[in-house]
Amino acid sequence: MHNQPDFRTNLCFEALWDTKQWFEPAFVQLDSKGCILSISEESKTQEPTEKIRGFVIPGHNNAHSHAFQYALAGLAEHLPNHSAADDFWSWREAMYQLANTILPEEMEDIALMLYTEMLRHGYTAVAEFHYLHHNLDGSAYEEKAAMGQALLKAAGSTGIKLTLLPIFYQRGGFQDQMNPLQRRFISQTADDYLDLFYQTEKLVNKTANSKLGMGIHSLRAASPESICEIFESVPLGIPKHIHVAEQQKEVVEAQQFLGHRPITWLLQNLSLEGNYHLVHATHMDSVEVEQLAHSKAHVVVCPSTEGNLGDGFFSLRAFMQSGGRWSIGTDSHISLNPCEELRWLDYGQRLRHQKRNAFCFEGSDEGGEIALKQAILHGRAAAGYSDQPLSVGEPFDAVVYDASQPLLSASPKSHRLSTIVYTSDISSIMATVVNGRWYVINQQHLQQEKLRDNFIRTLAKIRHKIRKIF
Ligand SMILES: [Zn+2]
Repeated sequence: MHNQPDFRTNLCFEALWDTKQWFEPAFVQLDSKGCILSISEESKTQEPTEKIRGFVIPGHNNAHSHAFQYALAGLAEHLPNHSAADDFWSWREAMYQLANTILPEEMEDIALMLYTEMLRHGYTAVAEFHYLHHNLDGSAYEEKAAMGQALLKAAGSTGIKLTLLPIFYQRGGFQDQMNPLQRRFISQTADDYLDLFYQTEKLVNKTANSKLGMGIHSLRAASPESICEIFESVPLGIPKHIHVAEQQKEVVEAQQFLGHRPITWLLQNLSLEGNYHLVHATHMDSVEVEQLAHSKAHVVVCPSTEGNLGDGFFSLRAFMQSGGRWSIGTDSHISLNPCEELRWLDYGQRLRHQKRNAFCFEGSDEGGEIALKQAILHGRAAAGYSDQPLSVGEPFDAVVYDASQPLLSASPKSHRLSTIVYTSDISSIMATVVNGRWYVINQQHLQQEKLRDNFIRTLAKIRHKIRKIF
């Protein structure tokens, strides 16, 4: 494969779904930047049109990522040394050990491989919840946002669109001093953080295909005053993210130190507009479920990571029943398959309630369609993109499923999206396209082998540094 991705401006797909309707066949015309000039069921050009046996849907959006944690995927599936049990908090200790080895160039190598793998699984954009900011000793890098820059460089090289969310992380816990292993995350004051935020903004402004958002790590990691001050100090419309209510311990401590459950505290102390994205929101009582659904805020659910860490079940049925909006993220990257995230989300509910089809509320509902619509449209909101994917004037960011794959080719149009969600794996993906550029074709990214070799070397170096743990 060559170094530059293929770029084709006149295409005819077997069918295309823009989240509202199917075009079948779908003639797509692009301009030289890869933006959509037209999508129609009849050709609008005399130019030669390339026929492609694929079903197109908007690119998946990954609404929650910590890139560096990819280096831990698969390595923490055993009990920690000398322990009889393992939970979120012991996993977190291993993750902190990892976080305290990674240099900016290693961050870039990990993210290069991770973002390539995301593209291979059909993600075209990712929101990076980035808190690994500082030097190994906790001091600021000379270029304050050096680690963020490494992420921007990696995204630029792979072709994925990156929304960088520099994260405010102030303290160890509700009453805890900083754990020394958190030193690379910490901004002591709101001003320290805002300095980092505006440095990051400058880098984002210079980088194509990137956007800026922001976030606060969690209620336990910042004082209540700083949380309100920072969320109100940054530009109004950008995406604002926060981890919340992932673990029962956090709920108990929030009640103890803030006087309220975490979601209740957020609802009472912030004006939760549509650009707020609450990550996890696992442990809500029924009042919180309803109030959060009625607010304008979104939830980012990370089903494979939440399952892997033993967090608990998100109250999907009740949240959706009240009109709640959600997207998906891969968080620790134990899985990178968007359809697996959606299946986990549904199957968790099926097992919990001993009923089928958790996404559906009316007899005419189609689970795959509802799930994809939520994940794509609200995932785009989490990264600062419009709710009009695959429409005229928008960049052609798409995933192409193989229409010759047996189940997909046999599936009637009405069940096609469910067939994708419930039966597909990476072998069903023919291509991933960003700005009209074909970065992944037949499960291969154009830099696959070079990046993999580099990744293996970097991971060996990192593991050498932390070999006592693994
Ligand atoms: Zn997270």
